[in-house]
Amino acid sequence: MIVIGAGAAGMMASITAAEAGANVTLLEKNDALGRKLLITGNGRCNLTNIREGGDFISGYFQGGQFLRDAIKALPPEGLLGFFRKRGVEFKVEEDGKVFPVTDRAADIVDTLKSALNETGVNVLCGSRVRDIKISDGMANGVILANGKEFQGGAVVLASGGLSYGSTGSSGDGYPMAENAGHRIIGLRPGLVALNTEEDMSCLEGLSVEDVIVSFVSGRKKVRAGRGSLIFTRKGVSGPVIISSSAKIIDAFESGPGVRIELNFCGGSNVEEVSRELTAMLAASPNKDAVRIVGEFVPRRLAELITARSGIGIGIKANMVKKEARAEAARELAAFPMTIVSSRPMEEAMVTRGGVSLKEIDPRTMASRIVKGLFLAGEIIDVDGDTGGFNLQAAFSTGFLAGRSAALIVAGR
Ligand SMILES: Cc1cc2nc3c(=O)[nH]c(=O)nc-3n(C[C@H](O)[C@H](O)[C@H](O)COP(=O)(O)OP(=O)(O)OC[C@H]3O[C@@H](n4cnc5c(N)ncnc54)[C@H](O)[C@@H]3O)c2cc1C
Repeated sequence: MIVIGAGAAGMMASITAAEAGANVTLLEKNDALGRKLLITGNGRCNLTNIREGGDFISGYFQGGQFLRDAIKALPPEGLLGFFRKRGVEFKVEEDGKVFPVTDRAADIVDTLKSALNETGVNVLCGSRVRDIKISDGMANGVILANGKEFQGGAVVLASGGLSYGSTGSSGDGYPMAENAGHRIIGLRPGLVALNTEEDMSCLEGLSVEDVIVSFVSGRKKVRAGRGSLIFTRKGVSGPVIISSSAKIIDAFESGPGVRIELNFCGGSNVEEVSRELTAMLAASPNKDAVRIVGEFVPRRLAELITARSGIGIGIKANMVKKEARAEAARELAAFPMTIVSSRPMEEAMVTRGGVSLKEIDPRTMASRIVKGLFLAGEIIDVDGDTGGFNLQAAFSTGFLAGRSAALIVAGR
């Protein structure tokens, strides 16, 4: 059988199928395996998530229900067991994020390479697949960009998404899936920084801890997330924005531009912050007002809020006017910004959209259109939150596709 793409999904599919007795050829267009895996988690690889409480599939924005069988086949503990058996140890960090104790994504890639080797998978790098060969509604091989052909009783398409194309995942698989008759659902960036209408260059690089982000959808205020935020030259980034980006971008559907509000005060509302600020100003009448605002937020942001609210820089606490104080409280509890777009696909951590889930059997990852074709990993219309959910989806769907494809090959 043939596997296209040596990322998380393709390597796991190959190893699983080979362990089940299939003769597997893994084709990778790069000259090295797992290039994207190496940069995951800032080079530390957040492999999966074992946070307590809540259903694991609630970590997915799209496709969670579809993944149930795949995650049952290879759950987080099963994935960790795969690596532990081969000598990798793990640690759990905040929110259940799991990393190798060595903080080296390279250990994950090296382990997969050894497993490919041990199971006898025929790994061919520098092999860019151009298309899948299909005859009589059955996938029976692939053709490379250089014209070379490979025959196989089953084909697993695991060529990844479109984001960070420099790693090799440049969307080659979508036309292959389309040629096979599959529908591709709207491709768009996911887990990505956002551009704002406001020029934030004066705060570029500033990181603020514990920010609550909400947005207004229709007339309702929706809480998008909580965590640290980084101002960028063009807008906002950081964990809370990356995690909230899917919800905020989806809100574009109701019109261009999404108004968000940043709460820098642990969720206290404008009135509560106003009371607190009033008391603090009264308690230190001779202190610079900006220093008091600076007790809520970092200095650069405090300066901006002090200037914007009309308090003014160099003003003592006892000189602050009532309206300016009220405005400062509003900015601290509901700092307004308008999101106009996301950063481009190349900067996104995942691709949203992909091969329609309606055309894939979730129990096997088999195409419902072409016999002998299986799909796994980011190419399918599944995307999850940060925290290890995307790699778990890639490994679990890869595992299930590999196991199912091996059965088909054995039966032919
Ligand atoms: C910067 C960054 C950090 C991330 N960190 C995390 C994290 O810590 N935890 C997490 O869960 N997720 C993380 N993700 C997401 C995660 O990396 C992906 O969801 C996951 O790697 C997808 O796996 P995949 O096997 O489907 O695709 P990929 O890993 O993209 O692998 C696809 C492979 O197919 C090859 N290929 C493509 N076209 C062809 C072709 N025509 N012929 C042959 N080969 C081809 C590619 O070269 C590539 O090697 C991160 C993503 C990025 C960009």
